[in-house]
Amino acid sequence: MRFFFTGEEHHNYSLLPIFAAMKAHNLHVQNSLTRRKEKFEPLEEGYIGMYVCGPTVYDDVHLGNCRTFSSFDMIYRYLVYLGYRVRYVRNITDVGHLLDDGEDRMSKGARLAQLEPMEVAHKYAERFHDMMRKFNLHTPSIEPRASGHIPEQIQMVQDILNNGLAYVVNGSVYFDTVKFAKEQKTYGQLSGRKIDELLSSTRDDLKNQDEKRHPSDFAIWMKAKPDHIMRWSSPWSEGFPGWHLECSAMSTKYLGKHFDIHGGGNDLKFPHHENEVAQNMGSCGCTPAKYWLHTNMLLMNGKKMSKSDGNTISPEELFSGDSQHVTQGYSPDTVRFFMLQTHYGSTMDITNDALLAAEKGYHRLMEGIKRLEGMKGIEGAGELDETWINMTHNAIHEMDDDFNAPKSLAAFFEFITAVNTQYNNGENTIGQVALKEVIENAHALVFDIFGLRPPGDSSTTSMDGVMELIIDIRQQAREDKNWTISDTIRDRLAALNIEIKDGKDGTEWRVK
Ligand code: AMP
Ligand code: ZN
Repeated sequence: MRFFFTGEEHHNYSLLPIFAAMKAHNLHVQNSLTRRKEKFEPLEEGYIGMYVCGPTVYDDVHLGNCRTFSSFDMIYRYLVYLGYRVRYVRNITDVGHLLDDGEDRMSKGARLAQLEPMEVAHKYAERFHDMMRKFNLHTPSIEPRASGHIPEQIQMVQDILNNGLAYVVNGSVYFDTVKFAKEQKTYGQLSGRKIDELLSSTRDDLKNQDEKRHPSDFAIWMKAKPDHIMRWSSPWSEGFPGWHLECSAMSTKYLGKHFDIHGGGNDLKFPHHENEVAQNMGSCGCTPAKYWLHTNMLLMNGKKMSKSDGNTISPEELFSGDSQHVTQGYSPDTVRFFMLQTHYGSTMDITNDALLAAEKGYHRLMEGIKRLEGMKGIEGAGELDETWINMTHNAIHEMDDDFNAPKSLAAFFEFITAVNTQYNNGENTIGQVALKEVIENAHALVFDIFGLRPPGDSSTTSMDGVMELIIDIRQQAREDKNWTISDTIRDRLAALNIEIKDGKDGTEWRVK
Protein backbone atom coordinates (compact mmCIF):
# COMPACT_ATOMS: atom_id res chain seq x y z
CA MET A 1 0.00 0.00 0.00
CA ARG A 2 0.76 3.53 0.23
CA PHE A 3 -2.46 5.24 -0.29
CA PHE A 4 -5.62 3.37 -0.62
CA PHE A 5 -4.98 0.10 1.12
CA THR A 6 -3.23 -0.89 4.28
CA GLY A 7 -0.99 -3.78 5.19
CA GLU A 8 1.23 -5.37 2.62
CA GLU A 9 -0.86 -4.55 -0.43
CA HIS A 10 0.92 -2.37 -2.89
CA HIS A 11 -1.00 0.03 -4.91
CA ASN A 12 -0.28 1.02 -8.46
CA TYR A 13 -1.01 4.70 -8.68
CA SER A 14 -1.07 4.80 -12.40
CA LEU A 15 -4.37 2.91 -12.34
CA LEU A 16 -6.03 5.76 -10.55
CA PRO A 17 -7.27 8.84 -12.29
CA ILE A 18 -5.57 12.08 -11.33
CA PHE A 19 -8.58 14.24 -10.70
CA ALA A 20 -7.20 17.69 -11.37
CA ALA A 21 -4.82 18.50 -14.16
CA MET A 22 -1.37 19.08 -12.71
CA LYS A 23 -0.01 22.60 -13.08
CA ALA A 24 3.57 23.09 -14.17
CA HIS A 25 5.64 24.17 -11.19
CA ASN A 26 9.10 24.28 -9.76
CA LEU A 27 8.37 23.63 -6.10
CA HIS A 28 11.34 23.51 -3.74
CA VAL A 29 11.03 22.83 -0.02
CA GLN A 30 13.37 23.29 2.92
CA ASN A 31 13.91 19.74 4.15
CA SER A 32 14.85 19.60 7.84
CA LEU A 33 16.20 16.09 7.36
CA THR A 34 18.91 17.15 4.92
CA ARG A 35 19.01 20.82 6.00
CA ARG A 36 18.79 21.77 2.34
CA LYS A 37 16.26 23.33 0.05
CA GLU A 38 15.36 20.54 -2.35
CA LYS A 39 13.30 20.17 -5.47
CA PHE A 40 10.02 18.61 -4.44
CA GLU A 41 9.46 15.29 -6.12
CA PRO A 42 6.59 13.20 -4.79
CA LEU A 43 7.05 9.48 -4.33
CA GLU A 44 4.23 8.86 -6.78
CA GLU A 45 3.47 11.35 -9.52
CA GLY A 46 0.28 13.26 -8.75
CA TYR A 47 -0.16 12.05 -5.16
CA ILE A 48 1.07 13.34 -1.84
CA GLY A 49 0.84 11.89 1.65
CA MET A 50 1.29 14.50 4.38
CA TYR A 51 1.28 13.95 8.14
CA VAL A 52 1.18 16.85 10.61
CA CYS A 53 1.37 16.53 14.39
CA GLY A 54 -1.89 17.81 15.79
CA PRO A 55 -2.87 19.21 19.20
CA THR A 56 -2.87 17.54 22.59
CA VAL A 57 -6.45 18.13 23.62
CA TYR A 58 -6.13 18.76 27.36
CA ASP A 59 -6.53 22.53 27.01
CA ASP A 60 -7.41 25.15 24.38
CA VAL A 61 -4.97 25.73 21.54
CA HIS A 62 -2.95 28.93 21.80
CA LEU A 63 -2.10 31.31 19.02
CA GLY A 64 1.28 29.64 18.41
CA ASN A 65 -0.47 26.34 17.68
CA CYS A 66 -2.81 28.23 15.33
CA ARG A 67 0.18 29.61 13.45
CA THR A 68 1.55 26.11 12.86
CA PHE A 69 -1.80 24.70 11.77
CA SER A 70 -2.58 27.60 9.45
CA SER A 71 0.90 27.29 7.90
CA PHE A 72 0.24 23.65 7.06
CA ASP A 73 -3.23 24.56 5.84
CA MET A 74 -1.60 26.99 3.39
CA ILE A 75 0.90 24.31 2.34
CA TYR A 76 -1.91 21.81 1.83
CA ARG A 77 -3.95 24.35 -0.13
CA TYR A 78 -1.01 25.14 -2.43
CA LEU A 79 -0.33 21.47 -3.14
CA VAL A 80 -4.00 20.99 -4.00
CA TYR A 81 -3.87 24.10 -6.20
CA LEU A 82 -0.95 22.58 -8.11
CA GLY A 83 -3.22 19.64 -8.87
CA TYR A 84 -1.92 17.04 -6.42
CA ARG A 85 -4.28 14.67 -4.76
CA VAL A 86 -3.23 15.08 -1.15
CA ARG A 87 -4.02 12.78 1.74
CA TYR A 88 -3.55 15.09 4.69
CA VAL A 89 -3.43 13.36 8.08
CA ARG A 90 -3.37 15.46 11.25
CA ASN A 91 -3.70 13.56 14.49
CA ILE A 92 -5.29 14.34 17.82
CA THR A 93 -3.22 13.40 20.86
CA ASP A 94 -5.58 12.19 23.54
CA VAL A 95 -3.28 9.84 25.43
CA GLY A 96 0.37 9.40 26.26
CA HIS A 97 1.63 13.00 26.21
CA LEU A 98 3.14 13.33 29.67
CA LEU A 99 4.07 16.31 31.77
CA ASP A 100 7.48 16.73 33.37
CA ASP A 101 6.15 15.28 36.62
CA GLY A 102 5.25 12.09 34.77
CA GLU A 103 1.50 12.62 34.81
CA ASP A 104 -0.45 12.21 31.59
CA ARG A 105 -1.64 15.63 30.33
CA MET A 106 -5.09 14.25 29.64
CA SER A 107 -5.38 12.55 33.05
CA LYS A 108 -4.24 15.69 34.84
CA GLY A 109 -6.76 17.83 32.94
CA ALA A 110 -9.47 15.30 33.81
CA ARG A 111 -8.49 15.07 37.48
CA LEU A 112 -8.52 18.86 37.90
CA ALA A 113 -11.90 19.20 36.20
CA GLN A 114 -13.29 16.00 37.79
CA LEU A 115 -14.11 14.63 34.39
CA GLU A 116 -13.42 11.45 32.45
CA PRO A 117 -10.24 11.94 30.36
CA MET A 118 -12.35 11.29 27.26
CA GLU A 119 -14.72 14.10 28.28
CA VAL A 120 -11.75 16.45 28.43
CA ALA A 121 -10.50 15.19 25.07
CA HIS A 122 -13.94 15.60 23.49
CA LYS A 123 -14.46 19.10 24.86
CA TYR A 124 -11.11 20.45 23.70
CA ALA A 125 -11.19 18.63 20.38
CA GLU A 126 -14.55 20.30 19.67
CA ARG A 127 -13.20 23.68 20.69
CA PHE A 128 -10.10 23.09 18.57
CA HIS A 129 -12.28 22.38 15.54
CA ASP A 130 -14.32 25.53 16.20
CA MET A 131 -11.13 27.57 16.28
CA MET A 132 -9.81 26.02 13.07
CA ARG A 133 -13.13 26.90 11.39
CA LYS A 134 -12.81 30.50 12.58
CA PHE A 135 -9.44 30.69 10.86
CA ASN A 136 -10.98 29.06 7.78
CA LEU A 137 -8.68 26.02 7.83
CA HIS A 138 -9.61 23.00 5.76
CA THR A 139 -10.26 19.87 7.75
CA PRO A 140 -7.62 17.22 7.12
CA SER A 141 -8.49 14.10 5.12
CA ILE A 142 -8.11 11.96 8.24
CA GLU A 143 -7.87 13.06 11.86
CA PRO A 144 -6.90 9.93 13.79
CA ARG A 145 -6.80 9.81 17.58
CA ALA A 146 -4.07 8.10 19.56
CA SER A 147 -6.58 6.33 21.82
CA GLY A 148 -8.23 4.78 18.76
CA HIS A 149 -4.97 3.19 17.60
CA ILE A 150 -3.72 1.24 20.60
CA PRO A 151 -3.49 -2.16 18.78
CA GLU A 152 -1.36 -0.57 16.03
CA GLN A 153 0.93 0.94 18.65
CA ILE A 154 1.24 -2.33 20.58
CA GLN A 155 2.14 -4.06 17.30
CA MET A 156 4.84 -1.48 16.62
CA VAL A 157 6.33 -1.98 20.11
CA GLN A 158 6.35 -5.72 19.42
CA ASP A 159 8.10 -5.21 16.06
CA ILE A 160 10.77 -3.02 17.67
CA LEU A 161 11.29 -5.63 20.41
CA ASN A 162 11.51 -8.38 17.79
CA ASN A 163 14.23 -6.40 16.06
CA GLY A 164 16.17 -6.23 19.33
CA LEU A 165 15.95 -2.46 19.56
CA ALA A 166 13.94 -2.19 22.78
CA TYR A 167 13.98 -3.77 26.23
CA VAL A 168 11.38 -4.43 28.93
CA VAL A 169 11.82 -3.29 32.53
CA ASN A 170 9.05 -3.78 35.12
CA GLY A 171 6.32 -3.86 32.48
CA SER A 172 7.54 -0.77 30.63
CA VAL A 173 9.28 -0.95 27.26
CA TYR A 174 12.16 1.37 26.35
CA PHE A 175 13.66 2.12 22.97
CA ASP A 176 17.38 1.35 22.98
CA THR A 177 18.82 4.49 21.40
CA VAL A 178 22.45 3.47 21.91
CA LYS A 179 22.05 0.16 20.09
CA PHE A 180 19.96 1.84 17.41
CA ALA A 181 22.54 4.59 16.88
CA LYS A 182 25.31 1.98 16.60
CA GLU A 183 23.41 -0.20 14.13
CA GLN A 184 21.70 2.42 12.02
CA LYS A 185 24.04 5.38 12.53
CA THR A 186 21.06 7.70 12.16
CA TYR A 187 19.84 8.66 15.63
CA GLY A 188 20.06 12.45 15.86
CA GLN A 189 20.00 13.05 12.10
CA LEU A 190 16.90 15.23 12.18
CA SER A 191 17.76 17.33 15.20
CA GLY A 192 21.52 17.31 14.62
CA ARG A 193 22.16 16.04 18.16
CA LYS A 194 24.80 13.53 19.02
CA ILE A 195 23.90 10.56 21.15
CA ASP A 196 26.57 11.39 23.76
CA GLU A 197 25.17 14.86 24.21
CA LEU A 198 21.69 13.59 24.80
CA LEU A 199 21.00 13.86 28.47
CA SER A 200 17.67 13.29 30.09
CA SER A 201 15.82 15.54 27.69
CA THR A 202 12.72 13.54 26.94
CA ARG A 203 9.79 15.15 28.67
CA ASP A 204 7.66 12.05 28.79
CA ASP A 205 9.34 9.70 31.19
CA LEU A 206 11.70 11.52 33.51
CA LYS A 207 10.20 9.60 36.42
CA ASN A 208 11.51 6.36 35.00
CA GLN A 209 15.09 7.48 34.57
CA ASP A 210 16.36 4.66 36.78
CA GLU A 211 14.78 2.01 34.53
CA LYS A 212 16.52 3.24 31.41
CA ARG A 213 19.90 1.98 30.27
CA HIS A 214 20.82 5.35 28.79
CA PRO A 215 19.32 8.78 29.45
CA SER A 216 18.34 9.21 25.79
CA ASP A 217 16.35 5.95 25.73
CA PHE A 218 12.64 6.65 25.74
CA ALA A 219 9.49 4.80 26.72
CA ILE A 220 7.43 3.26 23.95
CA TRP A 221 5.12 1.51 26.40
CA MET A 222 4.59 2.55 30.01
CA LYS A 223 3.19 0.47 32.80
CA ALA A 224 0.34 2.40 34.41
CA LYS A 225 0.43 3.19 38.11
CA PRO A 226 -2.62 1.96 40.05
CA ASP A 227 -4.32 5.38 39.93
CA HIS A 228 -3.65 5.99 36.24
CA ILE A 229 -7.02 6.11 34.46
CA MET A 230 -6.14 5.61 30.79
CA ARG A 231 -4.79 2.06 30.49
CA TRP A 232 -4.88 -0.84 28.09
CA SER A 233 -3.79 -4.49 28.24
CA SER A 234 -0.60 -5.39 26.46
CA PRO A 235 1.86 -8.31 26.51
CA TRP A 236 4.05 -6.32 28.94
CA SER A 237 1.65 -4.68 31.39
CA GLU A 238 -1.57 -2.76 31.72
CA GLY A 239 -0.40 0.57 30.54
CA PHE A 240 -0.34 3.12 27.77
CA PRO A 241 1.82 3.97 24.77
CA GLY A 242 4.64 6.54 24.81
CA TRP A 243 3.73 9.83 23.19
CA HIS A 244 6.05 9.55 20.19
CA LEU A 245 4.66 6.18 19.21
CA GLU A 246 1.21 7.33 18.10
CA CYS A 247 2.52 9.43 15.21
CA SER A 248 4.73 6.58 13.96
CA ALA A 249 1.85 4.11 14.13
CA MET A 250 -0.81 6.37 12.63
CA SER A 251 1.33 7.82 9.83
CA THR A 252 2.30 4.27 8.82
CA LYS A 253 -1.28 3.09 8.96
CA TYR A 254 -2.71 5.85 6.79
CA LEU A 255 0.21 6.88 4.58
CA GLY A 256 2.40 3.81 4.43
CA LYS A 257 5.92 3.08 5.59
CA HIS A 258 7.44 5.78 3.45
CA PHE A 259 5.48 8.91 2.61
CA ASP A 260 6.10 12.40 1.27
CA ILE A 261 5.82 15.07 3.96
CA HIS A 262 5.92 15.13 7.74
CA GLY A 263 5.33 18.43 9.50
CA GLY A 264 5.05 20.11 12.86
CA GLY A 265 6.44 22.99 14.89
CA ASN A 266 10.23 23.03 15.23
CA ASP A 267 9.91 22.55 19.01
CA LEU A 268 8.89 18.98 18.10
CA LYS A 269 12.08 18.19 16.16
CA PHE A 270 13.58 16.80 19.31
CA PRO A 271 12.70 14.51 20.92
CA HIS A 272 9.33 13.85 19.28
CA HIS A 273 10.27 13.68 15.60
CA GLU A 274 13.72 12.23 16.19
CA ASN A 275 12.10 9.42 18.13
CA GLU A 276 9.46 8.93 15.47
CA VAL A 277 12.19 8.34 12.90
CA ALA A 278 13.92 5.91 15.29
CA GLN A 279 10.68 3.99 15.88
CA ASN A 280 9.88 3.67 12.19
CA MET A 281 13.42 2.60 11.40
CA GLY A 282 13.44 0.31 14.40
CA SER A 283 10.19 -1.42 13.48
CA CYS A 284 10.41 -1.74 9.70
CA GLY A 285 13.80 -0.37 8.68
CA CYS A 286 12.34 2.52 6.74
CA THR A 287 12.58 6.29 7.16
CA PRO A 288 9.03 7.58 7.42
CA ALA A 289 9.00 10.85 5.47
CA LYS A 290 11.01 12.01 2.49
CA TYR A 291 10.60 15.69 3.42
CA TRP A 292 10.35 17.05 6.97
CA LEU A 293 8.91 20.57 7.19
CA HIS A 294 9.09 22.56 10.40
CA THR A 295 7.30 25.78 11.28
CA ASN A 296 8.96 28.30 13.53
CA MET A 297 7.70 29.72 16.79
CA LEU A 298 5.34 32.60 17.40
CA LEU A 299 6.74 35.27 19.72
CA MET A 300 4.94 38.14 21.38
CA ASN A 301 6.70 41.48 21.77
CA GLY A 302 9.98 39.74 20.99
CA LYS A 303 9.65 36.99 23.61
CA LYS A 304 8.47 33.40 23.29
CA MET A 305 4.76 33.23 23.86
CA SER A 306 4.31 31.47 27.16
CA LYS A 307 1.38 31.00 29.47
CA SER A 308 3.50 30.91 32.64
CA ASP A 309 4.87 34.48 32.45
CA GLY A 310 1.68 36.06 31.10
CA ASN A 311 3.24 36.74 27.71
CA THR A 312 0.35 35.13 25.93
CA ILE A 313 -2.85 35.99 24.18
CA SER A 314 -5.58 33.54 23.26
CA PRO A 315 -7.16 33.67 19.81
CA GLU A 316 -10.48 34.69 21.43
CA GLU A 317 -8.82 37.61 23.25
CA LEU A 318 -7.26 38.68 19.99
CA PHE A 319 -10.62 38.59 18.20
CA SER A 320 -12.45 40.51 20.93
CA GLY A 321 -9.59 42.88 21.85
CA ASP A 322 -10.06 41.92 25.49
CA SER A 323 -6.35 41.85 26.40
CA GLN A 324 -3.73 44.26 27.70
CA HIS A 325 -1.58 43.36 24.69
CA VAL A 326 -3.88 44.86 22.03
CA THR A 327 -5.77 48.13 21.61
CA GLN A 328 -8.66 46.58 19.66
CA GLY A 329 -10.03 43.28 18.34
CA TYR A 330 -8.78 41.76 15.07
CA SER A 331 -10.77 39.44 12.84
CA PRO A 332 -9.48 35.91 12.15
CA ASP A 333 -8.83 37.00 8.55
CA THR A 334 -6.66 39.91 9.70
CA VAL A 335 -4.73 37.52 11.94
CA ARG A 336 -4.34 35.07 9.08
CA PHE A 337 -3.16 37.85 6.77
CA PHE A 338 -0.72 38.91 9.48
CA MET A 339 0.67 35.36 9.65
CA LEU A 340 1.10 35.20 5.88
CA GLN A 341 3.53 38.12 6.04
CA THR A 342 6.26 35.99 7.61
CA HIS A 343 7.70 32.83 6.08
CA TYR A 344 6.57 29.76 8.03
CA GLY A 345 10.19 28.80 8.75
CA SER A 346 11.05 32.11 10.48
CA THR A 347 10.11 33.21 13.96
CA MET A 348 7.29 35.67 13.99
CA ASP A 349 6.66 38.46 16.43
CA ILE A 350 3.12 39.53 17.18
CA THR A 351 2.66 43.15 18.27
CA ASN A 352 -0.30 45.49 18.26
CA ASP A 353 1.40 47.77 15.71
CA ALA A 354 2.03 44.87 13.36
CA LEU A 355 -1.60 43.79 13.67
CA LEU A 356 -2.84 47.31 12.95
CA ALA A 357 -0.69 47.36 9.80
CA ALA A 358 -1.96 43.89 8.86
CA GLU A 359 -5.56 45.05 9.19
CA LYS A 360 -4.85 47.90 6.75
CA GLY A 361 -3.05 45.55 4.37
CA TYR A 362 -5.88 43.01 4.47
CA HIS A 363 -8.48 45.68 3.62
CA ARG A 364 -6.29 47.11 0.85
CA LEU A 365 -6.00 43.63 -0.63
CA MET A 366 -9.74 43.01 -0.51
CA GLU A 367 -10.53 46.47 -1.89
CA GLY A 368 -8.15 45.82 -4.78
CA ILE A 369 -9.88 42.52 -5.57
CA LYS A 370 -13.28 44.24 -5.51
CA ARG A 371 -12.03 46.86 -7.95
CA LEU A 372 -10.65 44.15 -10.20
CA GLU A 373 -13.93 42.26 -10.13
CA GLY A 374 -15.79 45.47 -11.01
CA MET A 375 -13.72 46.09 -14.15
CA LYS A 376 -15.22 45.59 -17.58
CA GLY A 377 -12.83 44.20 -20.12
CA ILE A 378 -12.78 45.36 -23.71
CA GLU A 379 -13.56 43.06 -26.59
CA GLY A 380 -10.52 41.56 -28.25
CA ALA A 381 -7.04 42.10 -26.91
CA GLY A 382 -6.06 44.89 -24.50
CA GLU A 383 -2.70 46.46 -23.73
CA LEU A 384 -2.40 44.97 -20.27
CA ASP A 385 -3.48 41.40 -21.02
CA GLU A 386 -0.10 39.76 -20.89
CA THR A 387 1.33 41.93 -18.12
CA TRP A 388 -1.51 41.28 -15.74
CA ILE A 389 -1.69 37.57 -16.48
CA ASN A 390 2.03 37.30 -15.84
CA MET A 391 1.90 39.39 -12.69
CA THR A 392 -0.80 37.25 -11.09
CA HIS A 393 0.71 33.99 -12.31
CA ASN A 394 4.14 34.94 -10.99
CA ALA A 395 2.69 36.05 -7.64
CA ILE A 396 1.15 32.59 -7.21
CA HIS A 397 4.34 30.80 -8.22
CA GLU A 398 6.47 32.67 -5.66
CA MET A 399 4.95 29.93 -3.51
CA ASP A 400 7.17 27.47 -5.39
CA ASP A 401 10.03 28.79 -3.30
CA ASP A 402 9.26 26.78 -0.15
CA PHE A 403 5.71 28.14 0.14
CA ASN A 404 6.98 31.69 0.40
CA ALA A 405 3.75 33.49 1.23
CA PRO A 406 5.40 36.85 2.07
CA LYS A 407 7.09 36.96 -1.35
CA SER A 408 3.89 35.93 -3.03
CA LEU A 409 1.90 38.55 -1.12
CA ALA A 410 4.43 41.28 -1.98
CA ALA A 411 4.24 40.39 -5.68
CA PHE A 412 0.47 40.38 -5.53
CA PHE A 413 0.47 43.84 -3.94
CA GLU A 414 2.44 45.14 -6.93
CA PHE A 415 -0.39 43.86 -9.06
CA ILE A 416 -2.97 45.51 -6.75
CA THR A 417 -1.08 48.82 -7.22
CA ALA A 418 -1.42 48.38 -10.98
CA VAL A 419 -5.14 47.69 -10.58
CA ASN A 420 -5.55 50.83 -8.46
CA THR A 421 -3.75 52.95 -11.06
CA GLN A 422 -6.01 51.60 -13.76
CA TYR A 423 -9.07 52.16 -11.58
CA ASN A 424 -8.08 55.76 -10.83
CA ASN A 425 -7.51 56.46 -14.54
CA GLY A 426 -10.90 54.98 -15.33
CA GLU A 427 -9.46 53.13 -18.32
CA ASN A 428 -10.35 49.69 -19.59
CA THR A 429 -7.35 48.52 -21.52
CA ILE A 430 -7.57 44.87 -20.64
CA GLY A 431 -9.30 42.33 -22.82
CA GLN A 432 -12.28 40.55 -21.28
CA VAL A 433 -10.79 37.09 -21.83
CA ALA A 434 -7.59 38.09 -20.04
CA LEU A 435 -9.57 39.80 -17.31
CA LYS A 436 -11.39 36.56 -16.59
CA GLU A 437 -8.08 34.72 -16.22
CA VAL A 438 -6.59 37.44 -14.04
CA ILE A 439 -9.62 37.38 -11.72
CA GLU A 440 -9.35 33.58 -11.53
CA ASN A 441 -5.68 33.86 -10.58
CA ALA A 442 -6.40 36.50 -7.95
CA HIS A 443 -9.16 34.38 -6.42
CA ALA A 444 -6.98 31.28 -6.50
CA LEU A 445 -4.17 32.98 -4.62
CA VAL A 446 -6.12 34.99 -2.09
CA PHE A 447 -9.10 32.76 -1.37
CA ASP A 448 -8.00 29.22 -2.29
CA ILE A 449 -4.31 29.26 -1.35
CA PHE A 450 -4.11 31.90 1.39
CA GLY A 451 -7.53 30.91 2.71
CA LEU A 452 -8.59 34.53 3.28
CA ARG A 453 -12.22 35.59 3.07
CA PRO A 454 -13.66 38.99 2.12
CA PRO A 455 -14.58 41.13 5.15
CA GLY A 456 -17.93 40.09 6.60
CA ASP A 457 -17.75 36.73 4.85
CA SER A 458 -16.45 34.94 7.86
CA SER A 459 -19.81 33.89 9.23
CA THR A 460 -18.26 32.86 12.53
CA THR A 461 -16.86 36.33 13.16
CA SER A 462 -20.11 38.13 12.53
CA MET A 463 -22.09 35.50 14.43
CA ASP A 464 -19.75 35.85 17.40
CA GLY A 465 -20.17 39.61 17.37
CA VAL A 466 -23.96 39.44 17.10
CA MET A 467 -24.21 36.86 19.88
CA GLU A 468 -21.95 38.94 22.11
CA LEU A 469 -24.28 41.89 21.57
CA ILE A 470 -27.42 39.84 22.31
CA ILE A 471 -25.88 38.35 25.45
CA ASP A 472 -24.87 41.84 26.65
CA ILE A 473 -28.42 43.14 26.14
CA ARG A 474 -29.86 40.15 28.02
CA GLN A 475 -27.39 40.70 30.84
CA GLN A 476 -28.44 44.34 31.09
CA ALA A 477 -32.10 43.27 31.16
CA ARG A 478 -31.35 40.86 34.01
CA GLU A 479 -29.51 43.53 35.97
CA ASP A 480 -32.56 45.78 35.48
CA LYS A 481 -34.75 42.85 36.59
CA ASN A 482 -36.57 43.05 33.27
CA TRP A 483 -37.32 39.32 33.18
CA THR A 484 -39.75 39.65 30.26
CA ILE A 485 -36.98 40.82 27.94
CA SER A 486 -34.33 38.43 29.25
CA ASP A 487 -36.71 35.42 28.98
CA THR A 488 -37.86 36.48 25.52
CA ILE A 489 -34.26 36.64 24.33
CA ARG A 490 -33.54 33.16 25.67
CA ASP A 491 -36.76 31.65 24.25
CA ARG A 492 -36.39 33.27 20.83
CA LEU A 493 -32.79 32.04 20.60
CA ALA A 494 -33.92 28.54 21.63
CA ALA A 495 -36.49 28.63 18.83
CA LEU A 496 -33.54 29.34 16.49
CA ASN A 497 -31.75 26.32 17.96
CA ILE A 498 -29.26 28.49 19.83
CA GLU A 499 -28.77 27.47 23.42
CA ILE A 500 -27.37 29.86 26.01
CA LYS A 501 -25.97 28.74 29.32
CA ASP A 502 -25.06 30.93 32.29
CA GLY A 503 -21.95 29.75 34.12
CA LYS A 504 -19.44 31.15 36.55
CA ASP A 505 -17.28 32.37 33.64
CA GLY A 506 -20.16 34.22 31.98
CA THR A 507 -22.73 33.20 29.41
CA GLU A 508 -21.85 30.69 26.72
CA TRP A 509 -23.80 29.93 23.57
CA ARG A 510 -23.90 27.12 21.08
CA VAL A 511 -25.92 26.09 18.07
CA LYS A 512 -27.81 22.92 19.05
P1 AMP B 1 1.12 20.76 21.13
O1 AMP B 1 -0.37 20.63 21.34
O2 AMP B 1 1.80 21.53 22.22
O3 AMP B 1 1.79 19.43 20.86
O4 AMP B 1 1.34 21.66 19.82
C1 AMP B 1 0.66 21.49 18.60
C2 AMP B 1 1.47 22.10 17.46
O5 AMP B 1 1.71 23.51 17.68
C3 AMP B 1 2.86 21.46 17.34
O6 AMP B 1 3.15 21.29 15.96
C4 AMP B 1 3.78 22.49 17.97
O7 AMP B 1 5.07 22.42 17.46
C5 AMP B 1 3.10 23.79 17.58
N1 AMP B 1 3.47 24.93 18.47
C6 AMP B 1 3.53 24.93 19.83
N2 AMP B 1 3.90 26.16 20.32
C7 AMP B 1 4.08 26.96 19.23
C8 AMP B 1 4.46 28.35 19.04
N3 AMP B 1 4.71 29.18 20.07
N4 AMP B 1 4.54 28.81 17.76
C9 AMP B 1 4.26 28.00 16.69
N5 AMP B 1 3.89 26.69 16.81
C10 AMP B 1 3.79 26.17 18.05
ZN1 ZN C 1 3.54 13.78 16.38
